[in-house]
Amino acid sequence: MDLVAALVKHVTHDAFLRRDGYDLRRHRTALAASQFLSTDELRALQLARLRDIVAAAAGHPFYRRRFRACGFEPGDLRDFADLARLPLLTKDDIRDGLGATLADGYSRGEVVHKRTGGSTGVPVHVDIDRAAMSLKKAATERHNGWAGLFPGDRLAAVWGDTSAAQPLRARLRNAMTARAFYLDTLRFDPPHIEAFLAQVRAKRPRVLMGHAHSIFRLAEHVRDRGGKISFGGVITTAMVLSPTERRVIEEVFRAPVFDRYGCEELSIIASECEAHQGLHEFAEGVFVELAGERADLPRPLILTDLSNRAMPLIRYEIGDYGVAEAGACPCGRGLPRLREVSGREADFLFTPDRVPVFGISILDTFIIHIPGIKQAQIVQDRYDHLLLRVVREARFTDESLALLGRRVREVFGERMRHEVAFVERIEPTASGKYRFSVCRIDSGGGE
Ligand SMILES: [Zn+2]
Repeated sequence: MDLVAALVKHVTHDAFLRRDGYDLRRHRTALAASQFLSTDELRALQLARLRDIVAAAAGHPFYRRRFRACGFEPGDLRDFADLARLPLLTKDDIRDGLGATLADGYSRGEVVHKRTGGSTGVPVHVDIDRAAMSLKKAATERHNGWAGLFPGDRLAAVWGDTSAAQPLRARLRNAMTARAFYLDTLRFDPPHIEAFLAQVRAKRPRVLMGHAHSIFRLAEHVRDRGGKISFGGVITTAMVLSPTERRVIEEVFRAPVFDRYGCEELSIIASECEAHQGLHEFAEGVFVELAGERADLPRPLILTDLSNRAMPLIRYEIGDYGVAEAGACPCGRGLPRLREVSGREADFLFTPDRVPVFGISILDTFIIHIPGIKQAQIVQDRYDHLLLRVVREARFTDESLALLGRRVREVFGERMRHEVAFVERIEPTASGKYRFSVCRIDSGGGE
């Protein structure tokens, strides 16, 4: 028995959460039960919460204007179909209206600020109230549990983040709560990978988590060197997982893959259970609509956050696509399922020394910090040259341009050259999806 794990699970994890104003206990019990409600019971629960959040949205100036403009009263929402009377919420709506203020009665000091480059390279800022965050954190714990990850367990994470970059307080806190250690996907070279694998061998975490494609590249690295590493489960997230990638990951790490879909603005949205037959939605906290008619094709996901009252997201057009899975899951959970979700696609790019740099990590840690970028795309045509396509807005200044150059040098090194092309818009690929980073080096982005 890991004594530290027990201490963290039973004492420090919740103590830190409570200190930050979160209370998960009530939600844990409720979510453990509600996942096994029948489809009809869950639909009824969702409709009640949908009506509540729409009523709460009337307390936000943006929705007051919006409801008035389309002649909608919150009491008009009697069934799911009535939701269609409300327009979709776009990222521009959040940037230019919703995001400017909080709902009546909320102040900036009591909300959690989230920012993301999202699926489409458009930076979005959203504030989430703490009551909503408590529910979301409890839901994340529930879905982690399906993959065998519990509070107090060590976690190996492949992410655009390193614990070393955090201040000591954050690192101490990590040691006493999440107990995660990281492989930074902005430093994805053999020495860093080997150092991470040495930690894995020493600490023997039960679960490996990270961006799907980074985990795949890590599996390739281990396989090609004939190494042996096994986990209890692998959680892949934040982007498309191909069947080939899943097979390689499961073979190399001798563990089932639990694919997951979530985003910064809403936290967890859906994830696989132990049956691995689609991703169960976090239906108690998110209402999922699929736009369009063709049920067999990927359709745009329209998401309504059922808990965030400080900045309600109602019918949010996130830019990802999904296919619904019909019928009941063998696991017995009544939570509806998505067969597949597709959205974020990004290539690995390279430094002039040919060290891979993962596009999604740049998206998350890079463009959202530069003022005035409305959308961006990075195209690499040579090892020492990048083309940055930028859709700018009025706030974009010479300073933004200088900052962009500095970030390129920080991530890719001093020898990387780049040019910036200001464009009206960034075209999606032939499949209709947006790619944040595109590698056009002839080797095909391989080793
Ligand atoms: Zn299931």
